[in-house]
Amino acid sequence: VAAMSSAHRQFLLTGDERLLLQYQNSGESFRLNVDEFKALVAGSFDAGEMLVKIGVLREQADLWRSVAGDPEIALRTTLTQASASMADVTRLIESETGKQIIDSLKQLIEAFIGEEEALNLSRADRAETAAEDSLAQAMVGTVISVLVALLAAFYLLRMILSSLATLSRATKQVADGDFAVQIPIETDDEIGRLGQSFNSMTEQLSTTMEQMEATQLGLNLKKAEAEVANQSKSEFLANMSHEIRTPMNGVIGMTNLLLDTHLDAAQYKLARTVKTSAESLLCIINDILDFSKVESGKMEFEEIDFNLGVMLEDLGSTMHFQAEDKGLALICPANPVIDQWICGDPGRVRQVLTNLIGNAIKFTDTGEVAIFAYCHPSAGSRCELRFEIKDTGIGISADQQANLFGKFTQADSSTTRKYGGTGLGLSISKQLVELMGGEIGIESVEGEGSTFWFTLNLQTAEPAEPITRRVDLKSQKVLVVDDNATNRELMHQLLDIWGVRHELAVDGQVGLTMAETAAASDDPFTVGLIDMHMPVMDGEQLCQAIRANADLCDMGLVVVTSQARRGDAKKMKAIGFNGYLSKPIQQSDLYNLLQNVHAGLDEDQGFITRFTHRETLQFKAHVLVVEDNTTNQTVIQGVLAKFGITVDVAANGAEAISALTSGINYRLVLMDCQMPVMDGYAATQQIRDPATPQINHQIPVIAMTANVMQGDREKCLAAGMDDYIAKPIDNIKLRQKLEQWLPAETRVASTADDDDKPDPAASDVVDAEPKAELIKVTPAVAGSTDQTVQRVDQVGQIPSQQSQPQQLQQPQQPQQPQQVEQVEQAEQAEQAEQAEQLNPVFDYESICRRLDDDVELMRDISLVFGEDMQRQLSALSDAVAGEDFQHVMGICHTVSGAAGNIGGMALSATAQDLQLVAKTQDLRAVRDGIKKMADDFARLQVEMNTKLG
Ligand code: ADP
Repeated sequence: VAAMSSAHRQFLLTGDERLLLQYQNSGESFRLNVDEFKALVAGSFDAGEMLVKIGVLREQADLWRSVAGDPEIALRTTLTQASASMADVTRLIESETGKQIIDSLKQLIEAFIGEEEALNLSRADRAETAAEDSLAQAMVGTVISVLVALLAAFYLLRMILSSLATLSRATKQVADGDFAVQIPIETDDEIGRLGQSFNSMTEQLSTTMEQMEATQLGLNLKKAEAEVANQSKSEFLANMSHEIRTPMNGVIGMTNLLLDTHLDAAQYKLARTVKTSAESLLCIINDILDFSKVESGKMEFEEIDFNLGVMLEDLGSTMHFQAEDKGLALICPANPVIDQWICGDPGRVRQVLTNLIGNAIKFTDTGEVAIFAYCHPSAGSRCELRFEIKDTGIGISADQQANLFGKFTQADSSTTRKYGGTGLGLSISKQLVELMGGEIGIESVEGEGSTFWFTLNLQTAEPAEPITRRVDLKSQKVLVVDDNATNRELMHQLLDIWGVRHELAVDGQVGLTMAETAAASDDPFTVGLIDMHMPVMDGEQLCQAIRANADLCDMGLVVVTSQARRGDAKKMKAIGFNGYLSKPIQQSDLYNLLQNVHAGLDEDQGFITRFTHRETLQFKAHVLVVEDNTTNQTVIQGVLAKFGITVDVAANGAEAISALTSGINYRLVLMDCQMPVMDGYAATQQIRDPATPQINHQIPVIAMTANVMQGDREKCLAAGMDDYIAKPIDNIKLRQKLEQWLPAETRVASTADDDDKPDPAASDVVDAEPKAELIKVTPAVAGSTDQTVQRVDQVGQIPSQQSQPQQLQQPQQPQQPQQVEQVEQAEQAEQAEQAEQLNPVFDYESICRRLDDDVELMRDISLVFGEDMQRQLSALSDAVAGEDFQHVMGICHTVSGAAGNIGGMALSATAQDLQLVAKTQDLRAVRDGIKKMADDFARLQVEMNTKLG
């Protein structure tokens, strides 16, 4: 309105037509605004009054235009066109009609705006109130909604949780094996569907379980059947191998006899082939027997203290020839194993080693087989043993290694294979090792060689013999010349342990240079240990070269050879050697030899061998032997005579006392325990009794006991004896005792020269060095309250089960159908057979060893024994006729001891068994026993005549 009236007035004053246009536009705009305003207002709740006011506004505006605005414009336009005067215009303006209208219009608008503002204010108030109301309502609404939601959630949660609890209970039942469980389905929602799936799952599980149980039942039945079948198979095998072994022993025994008769060359060759074939068949049968024993759980293990090093050396000597036949070096042990005593089953350990060494030799064409034994202390007083058997043979590929320890497995299973065998050896070894709580394995490179190893965790044991005191070898300086690296290493380790200065040479030439250099620098070698067989310069050439050099003349030279032949000693001495050692070298031999070589050189003692030390020991002493049995008297006299000792014999305790009071200066008494008139215990008590006149009460008394029963030693000591020696007496055992008990001043240096003697090193019995014996008490056999004493030689063989009269068993009953009985019978048969094997009719080798190959002495003893036996047999028949069982037992005791002394092992065992039988007073069994004894005696005489001539 202002713009319109302003434009209007301007135009009236100026007549400028552009203002006219402004006027028009403003008017138009006013109308449009009013219309728009109307339209806006039309929607509001108090529109009526407003519209009326707007209508009035518009009317007033129109009125102004028609009354003032437009007429005044028209007039001014006319004026412009000069058709009217300005005065008209002024008049018109001054009439103020237009102004009144405009003013009223302005007032109207202001009033309107004022009202509108008031209205707005009241609206804002109302809106604020409304907003506050809404907020309050919203808050209440929210609280209510939250409460409702919480309620709903709680309800839902309870529903889900209870379903889950049901499900979880049911699941637990299923887990506990109740597959019949079902859960109630109450809803059709997810939880309901979950329940349905669960139910169908348990149904399926239940069905599957039923099927599985049925299958399991079937399988169990089948397993039981298979086990029974397997057991029967093993038992059958065990029985069969026993059955086969018996005739096999016959075949081998007879072939041996045949070989001893006069055969021409062709016949001899055939008979030898029969023997070797029979022996290899027996090996296979033994394998099968062992195998089936393990399978049927019948394998039993001993717990015996044994010297590991000695066992290994012994095994080395036994297998040495097998290796040598193939030109292989067998080094067993290849590391020092000194004074290592352990408790276990030496027989079984030896069996595993024999098998692995046998394989190593079999599968090696050139090079060596070396056996290492390591002993690491483990928990308590136990030790972890690890054996390694290394060969330089054909080796085994990785593929073949995988199954090697399975039954009947051979790397080369073709029928055209080069090496024979059953494929059982490794399987048995594995089972034995595992039964002893160890492990076995192999490392091998095809074409390079194999290392079989096994471990055992065993108890260490106290040495049964005092460890030999080491003589100081520090003054020695040793040159080892050997082309074999393992041998050199072994020597190196041994000499290190003994604290001996030494150097190693790989061949003769190097050795010679070393010897010359050492001599030139004033620190010469005292001893050379020279291997005989070496490439380029062999032992003989080296010896000659050393002997040709004046600077080296003080050097003691010992040849080490693996091919010992009779007469070698002489030959070696002629070459210029001072001593001789045959392979496999035993550590104690080497030690003694080193001790002797230099001493020997000083005394110009002659040629030194492993036997030198023993042969040179002599005593100048008078010893009293108290023994009633003539055979035993002869044996002990013979053995003592070898030590230069003067012997008097008393036949009982009473005679002994009178001898001891006779004034002769006896240095020692060897006292039998059981004798007529006065036994050894009573005699000793008298010797020790201060009331007995004219006697040396302190004289050492050593008991000679045939039965090394537990308590014997205590009984002897209680009676006042100082020590005891087990019968049969051998010279090494006796030597130890003499060294221990005879006063030092009775020793004399020997002038013995073994040059004229056949060299025992060259004989087949390489281990002529007697073995130390272990005496071990094992628990009593079932049903007996006695303690059984087993005499275990160091190689782990048990000579006989002395407490069981196996030889007198009645012929076996026909086998019962029960398998258990069959196995028992088989075992008895095996024991009888073992006894037969271990108790040969005439153990020539053992008597040779004990009597130091003195055939003359053996002949004497055999004559005395023959006469003695005749007497004993007739006394026996008298005793039986009078049913004097006590006397029978006494005679048997004597016969057993005497026969054992001359190597009549079978007779000795029979007599010992008969002694037990006599205790039962079963006349028939005693008669049978005597018959058997007479048979054994007859066989013994035949064999003694054959062997001793
Ligand atoms: P056997 O020797 O009677 O065949 P074993 O069970 O003792 O049976 O040995 C199984 C196989 O393992 C042998 O046939 C041979 O193929 C392989 N074997 C065993 N020891 C050696 C070894 N030292 N070197 C190479 N192969 C070996």
